[in-house]
Amino acid sequence: MGSKSEAGVDYMAIGAHPDDIEIFAGGTLLRLNALGRKGVLVDMTDGGMGTRGTSAIRVREAAAAAKALKTPREQLGEPDGKVQNTLEAQWKLIEIIRKYRPRILFTHHFSEEHPDHEQTALIVKEASFRAGLSKLDCKGEPWRPKRIFYAVGNTSVTPSFCVDITPCWESKMRLLHCYESQFHNPKSRLFKGRTDLAGASFMEALEIRARFWGLRIKRRHAEAFWCDEIAEVGDPTMLGGERFPASGSRK
Ligand SMILES: [Zn+2]
Repeated sequence: MGSKSEAGVDYMAIGAHPDDIEIFAGGTLLRLNALGRKGVLVDMTDGGMGTRGTSAIRVREAAAAAKALKTPREQLGEPDGKVQNTLEAQWKLIEIIRKYRPRILFTHHFSEEHPDHEQTALIVKEASFRAGLSKLDCKGEPWRPKRIFYAVGNTSVTPSFCVDITPCWESKMRLLHCYESQFHNPKSRLFKGRTDLAGASFMEALEIRARFWGLRIKRRHAEAFWCDEIAEVGDPTMLGGERFPASGSRK
């Protein structure tokens, strides 16, 4: 993984439950893969409290999605439905951050409705900073990720940037279908229990959101992220070239 001052992987994506990462950043991670970037996925819980499926099923599904992304996956074993921003939870994440030394982090935005998502965002923010403290009583060499990007969901947060995921929209849908127990599948009668995700309208809503952010950057589908800091740009012409391509420059 290089010397102690170098990043180990390009990114770490951290979600409260298996499938969260794929919902909020699946397209972005597929794009990063295509660019040759290396990353790691981290689930705070095994999702065992979910209405549909069991811990064992959800772990199997999460492993299938990680395989599709060709990315390692870690699970921190926090209690599903009761994730709390405690020092113990932060220490577990700090060990993982120090193990992989990611350059950037992706996670939920702390304005999200599900308390596990909100708490995960807070854990990530504080653990990311503390992981860089050299005298911390935690395993591993100090490492502080350079940026945290919080995914914009259904709350009224203005994104700092959007990632064009048009080329990998279909792949993102296939990725989500690794989670057979969670999403609507008219051909499967294996899983019962009514949830927002399992309703026929969830995928439609997910696409509407991706199309909305896509529209904002003049693309078909996009994922949106918020960053607490202002990003530095060395060459502003790079931004203009991507956002407003000359007509006909892109199919
Ligand atoms: Zn979740």
